[in-house]
Amino acid sequence: MSQKDKAFHRFYKHFPKVIGNNIRDYVTNHVLKGSRYIFIRRVKGIQFGYCTHCNERFMTSSPLKHNEMTDCPKCGSRCEVKNHGTSRKYMVDNAFVVYYEKSRVNPDAIIARAFRVFRDYRGDYTRVETEYNTTALYLFEPGNAEMYEHYWWHKEDRYVKCASVHSLELKSQYANNQCSEESIKKAIEGTPYQYSTWDQHDQPQWDYVKFFALYSKYPTVEYLTKLGFKYFVGAKLFDHKTFNCINWTGKNINSILRLNKSEIKEVLQYGTQVNPIQLRLYQLSRKDSNRPSLAQIIEAFKGTGDVMSEMKYIMKYTNVGKVINYMKKQINRPEKRKYRTYKDILTAWRDYLIECNTLEFDLFNERIIFPSNLFASHQKTMKMVTHKQNEETDRKIKNRQKQLSRYVFEDADLIIRPARSTFELINEGKELSICVGTYADRYAKGDTIILLVRKKQEPDKPFYTIEVRNDEIRQVQGLKHCSPTSEVREFIEKFKKTKLAKSNEKVGIAV
Ligand SMILES: [Zn+2]
Repeated sequence: MSQKDKAFHRFYKHFPKVIGNNIRDYVTNHVLKGSRYIFIRRVKGIQFGYCTHCNERFMTSSPLKHNEMTDCPKCGSRCEVKNHGTSRKYMVDNAFVVYYEKSRVNPDAIIARAFRVFRDYRGDYTRVETEYNTTALYLFEPGNAEMYEHYWWHKEDRYVKCASVHSLELKSQYANNQCSEESIKKAIEGTPYQYSTWDQHDQPQWDYVKFFALYSKYPTVEYLTKLGFKYFVGAKLFDHKTFNCINWTGKNINSILRLNKSEIKEVLQYGTQVNPIQLRLYQLSRKDSNRPSLAQIIEAFKGTGDVMSEMKYIMKYTNVGKVINYMKKQINRPEKRKYRTYKDILTAWRDYLIECNTLEFDLFNERIIFPSNLFASHQKTMKMVTHKQNEETDRKIKNRQKQLSRYVFEDADLIIRPARSTFELINEGKELSICVGTYADRYAKGDTIILLVRKKQEPDKPFYTIEVRNDEIRQVQGLKHCSPTSEVREFIEKFKKTKLAKSNEKVGIAV
């Protein structure tokens, strides 16, 4: 037996090998309750009915009509009437069911089985049985949660372990996905899952498998929910950010919330008003001498949304209290051109600090970290960075010139040559209203070649721009993307023949 088979074998032991009456009752009397029909047909003028629930045949007391609802006189079920002769081409009722039970081997564990269940009326309607296809098995035990999905491959069935525990469901407008909450209550009784708060999270989960998986891993969930921190459990369940606020493996409330007693008291006072960013910043400011109160943090980061990545960068150079002070100062600047929200300030400030880094400014200097007018300083550093980047790009473009000189070509009136600088590319783009300026980086890196066609009489005036890649002309652009005149086209043809065709030959030989 392979390791995988052994693991499955161990896992599979937890599950009953049959579909018990508890499940059958639930499916028949709840999930597929609507799948009960009385088929009517006339024999020698007398109408007979056949109930698909109790499988009884009877004479109708008063005539029944196709598609009406009626009670079966034999079993009392509410049934839909169908003509014997009606087309049953699509008559299949189905649903997806998740049902919980206790493990057969571990008294602390619970299991769940997911089934696709259906009743198929397309054949002989007197022989319809509810069918069960197992689609997944779930095991939840303290410290461990596992899920296996069931597949049919070439009529052979197989269970495959899933990387993580997740929900399966039928997806359509009419999909009928159901989980027996009664089954959960029975399954968890007397197990560590009994007080897990599984039914207290109103997030969009219908089968609770993710909850029980989370709880198996982190019983902390119960603590947090009971203390009113449902939000964090929900965030963890549905992959929203929690910014590392919660120490999920913490053994007591102090280590779970990374706070001491009096701090926790403060947090509990604000209850659900505290969002993960605010809580995280409160935690991160613990050791600061200028630590703001929780109220101040809540106030400052009320409407900022997710600014954690900005804050992380900024806090390399300062702390939460100073950030709050600085944001207040910037928002109250007298100038017209300033930032209007704390979020805008944080974004601009982070960008400004990144630029300062690029420019190798002294970021130990408070005057640099906290410029008195952030807007103006950021505008300045942006320009300086652009300039610096252009210088580097220019250096690379210059280094390519010698290699690119083989593309220089001229005839009586026109000349073609490689672009010489970022400025030239930007200017070319501006004058011709094309986007060649954005090609500077790629051109500098050698990913592409930008050639300029100029009239010999006006060698400095942009005329046409050509992009060459792999010795092939990719595009020819004139003023506002106009196509080349016949004169230019002829010239380009000549250039191609002399310069590109030759290079192609060379490549051919080299290979
Ligand atoms: Zn009946």
